[in-house]
Amino acid sequence: MSEASKAKASNKAYEFMMETYGPPPRGLNEETGEGEKADWWMARLGHLYGFSRWLGDQEGPAKAEVEPKRPDQPPVFCGEPPSGDFRDSFSAASTLCQVTCAPCGRTHFVTGEMAQGTYETGELEELEAEAALRPEWFVREDQFDDISFAYVGGRTVVLDCPCNWLRTWETFIRQAERPVASFLRKRAKEERALAASKVELAKKLEEAT
Ligand SMILES: [Zn+2]
Repeated sequence: MSEASKAKASNKAYEFMMETYGPPPRGLNEETGEGEKADWWMARLGHLYGFSRWLGDQEGPAKAEVEPKRPDQPPVFCGEPPSGDFRDSFSAASTLCQVTCAPCGRTHFVTGEMAQGTYETGELEELEAEAALRPEWFVREDQFDDISFAYVGGRTVVLDCPCNWLRTWETFIRQAERPVASFLRKRAKEERALAASKVELAKKLEEAT
């Protein structure tokens, strides 16, 4: 652990403890975070499973100092693609040049006639050169002029990516159909009640003016 990452971890821990437990008892060293104060911290940290796991994560060089190791092959999350119905349930955007599928890291790019004009100068050549070096990380689209993607759970997902990540969502929803439906019904009921109370409030305000 480098000095910089130690200091960073120590600051984070200090902020966390101040927020959670307030300042340490009088007489303990406020400045150094060493000795008795550290013991005081640790005694309270012992039962906080999440935080002790966080401390465990701080071992070794700080995360920013190491380049994350990229696997040799991009992942495939499921052996089959999502069904057409599920795929089409997402309101998709599309691009004429390139987009990277966040769950797997594959870059999809189009080379069709319409796409040619949308790349910056040299961008397509660069992509092709990279794709020649690491073909497994690129999906080259010669037939179609655009690539459909959607934002799912805050991530950019290429709908027809061979990683089939969307299928994992579909499988989950299918397997949990009853609880998902029941939850959505409850949500709808709450939303309706909330909307009704807003209408009621608006009426009262109108009557009062
Ligand atoms: Zn993918």
